[in-house]
Formats: sequence, C-alpha cells, structure tokens
Amino acid sequence: NLQVRLACRPKGRPVLADFQFTSEPLPIPADGQLLVRHEWLSLDPYMRGRMADTPSYAPPLELGAVMLGGTVGVVQASKHSNYAPGDLVLGMGGWQAYSLADAQGPAAPLKLERSEVPAFAYLGALGMPGITAWYGLTQLLRLSPGQTLLVSGATGAVGSVVGQLARARGLRAVGLAGGAHKCAHAVQQLGYEACVDYRDGPDAMLQGLRQACPDGVQGIFENVGGALLDAALQLASPHARIALCGAMAGYNGEPIPLAAPQLLLTKRIGLQGFIITEHLPLWPQARQELLALWRQGQLQQHSTIVDGLEQAPEAFIGMLQGQHLGKLLVRLT
Ligand code: NDP
Repeated sequence: NLQVRLACRPKGRPVLADFQFTSEPLPIPADGQLLVRHEWLSLDPYMRGRMADTPSYAPPLELGAVMLGGTVGVVQASKHSNYAPGDLVLGMGGWQAYSLADAQGPAAPLKLERSEVPAFAYLGALGMPGITAWYGLTQLLRLSPGQTLLVSGATGAVGSVVGQLARARGLRAVGLAGGAHKCAHAVQQLGYEACVDYRDGPDAMLQGLRQACPDGVQGIFENVGGALLDAALQLASPHARIALCGAMAGYNGEPIPLAAPQLLLTKRIGLQGFIITEHLPLWPQARQELLALWRQGQLQQHSTIVDGLEQAPEAFIGMLQGQHLGKLLVRLT
C-alpha cells in the first residue's frame, strides 16, 4: 500500500522534502470495517493548514501521519453488511492507494450510484468544493437576479462552480483570476460575464473591475484575500455581503492585512466566514440541487488530472501557486 506521509511541517511554501513515501502491506479489515482501493484523490488547499501546527479550526496532522484527503474508490473487502465488494464509495481515505474505513459512524464512506455522472465529480462540482460554492452563494450571499457578484479564485475548484451557479440563478458574476487564459476560460466555460486578470497589477485590476462592474458589487465570494479583497472592498456597494470562504494569498504564511478596513464600516458591509464541514446537515440538499443542475446541463466539472500518487506532492505544491485549472485530482493507477 503506497502512502504519502507528512515528513516535516513546511516553512512557507511546501517543498518535496516535506512529504515522505512509504509502502506497507495491505491492511486487513476487522469486523465493521471495509478495505477501499482508491481510484481518485482530491488535492485541496485546506491540506496546507493541516500540515502546520498553528491554531486553527481543525487539529494539525501528526508528523509521520498519512496526508489526509477525499477519495473515491471501490470496496475490495467488507466486514459489514452495508457494503459489498465492488461498491463505489466516497470517503476520506487520504494520500494512499488503499484505506480502511469504519462502516458506521460519521466517517462512514458514502455509497455512490454508478450513473452517467463521472465518479470524480463527487470530489469536485458535486462534492465538497461544489457544496462550498452552493453554501456561500445560496445561504450567505442570497443575491437577487441581475445583481453583481465578484468571485476571486474564479477558475479554481470552488470558483468554477460559483460561476456556473451564479449564471443558473441569473446573477452577473465577475471573476478575478491569474492570467489571460484563465480569464478566457472563466468567461467561455464557467458562466462569468467578465473576468479580470489580477496579475496585471493593482491599478489595472481596479480599472478592469470598475469597467466590468458599472453598478458596483452587491456580493463578494472571497477565496483569496490580500490585494484581491482590497479591490473588492473598493468596488463594493453599500450593504454588500461577503462570503469569506478562503484566503489563498496567506496560506504559506504571507501577511495579508486589509488596506482599508474602514470600508467595512462606511459601506456597512456584512462579512461572514464559514467552514463547510460545520454545515453537514445541508450537504444532501446541496448535492441534490447540484446534481439537478448537472442533469440539466447547467453544471460541469472542470478538472486538472495528474496520474499516479507519486505526482501528488508536486501537484499539491503547484496548486498553492495556482498552476492548475478547475478541480485538481490525482488518478491512481
Ligand atoms: P483551488 O486551488 O482550486 O483554487 C484556488 C484559486 O486561488 C486558484 O485558482 C488560484 O488561481 C488562486 N490563487 C492561489 N494562490 C493565489 C494567490 N497567492 N493570490 C491570488 N490567487 C491565488 O482551490 P479551491 O477552489 O478548492 O478553494 C478555493 C478557496 O476556498 C481556498 O481558499 C480554500 O481554502 C477555500 N475553501 C474553503 C472552504 C470552507 O469551508 N470555507 C471549503 C473549500 C475550500 P489563480 O491562478 O487565478 O490565482
């Protein structure tokens, strides 16, 4: 069983030496457990937080532990009547080829129907990132058709779903992304009305946003923070709402102070941070709505796929620098 473990706590940007590959004999399920062979592993920004031991909403990974992560796989052996060999399951199997899971309790894998929906979508548009997009948009921002929504990290796993959901709800979504090809993708594939390249610098970004948002911005779906949040506050209309989903710009320890926090006051802006795993009771409803949009052809998964667990550390390091498009996945071979 090939595994990737946390070798060192990263200092700043993670490096390959922070990860260690190990190989162990296949584990044998005890009563009430199942053995899952992973087909897909999801790489997500939150993993960077778990590699550190600074205080956060979730405890850090122990040094030497297998890296955690969402997986889709096939049951190989089961010692519980709820699961049979061959079942397709979504779980938190981690960065390894196989995992043991408890068949009962909060961490029990979710059985997936085999359908026209590709299994890996349950790690992206129909999974945690999609549900995050759905929650921020429908539960926190609650915009009306025609209102303008600004989304940073517009082409990432979450942002790519926010754009499509916004389009389906009749909102005007404007994205922020790094690079001309990402901006073109946001407009051509993800339902964004416009997308501004923040890499052109703060002045050009602000000018681009002013052009793209002539009526200001009533909702902000914030994935990045730093200079992008500063620009969003400049554009915000009075009483705008911010769903504070992530702060990519600061995940490697970079300071990301707000340039003008007084704008929150003078514009009477509502800012709500959230952690999607604290809203598990809403996940079935969210998944159902996302699946309905998928079946109507209004939601697609856009992914970057790397092959082999051996590639996971490098792909993860690249992800934190925005080197991918859409949901970053590892296909296990
Ligand atoms: P992705 O890595 O797929 O996308 C993040 C995007 O952020 C990338 O597209 C990248 O694109 C951009 N980005 C990365 N680094 C920087 C930087 N330094 N400055 C500006 N932009 C940057 O991640 P997800 O879509 O999965 O997650 C998006 C955010 O949502 C993350 O912050 C994540 O932690 C958060 N999240 C929060 C959840 C919650 O419960 N609150 C749940 C799930 C995700 P570009 O090239 O355009 O810069």
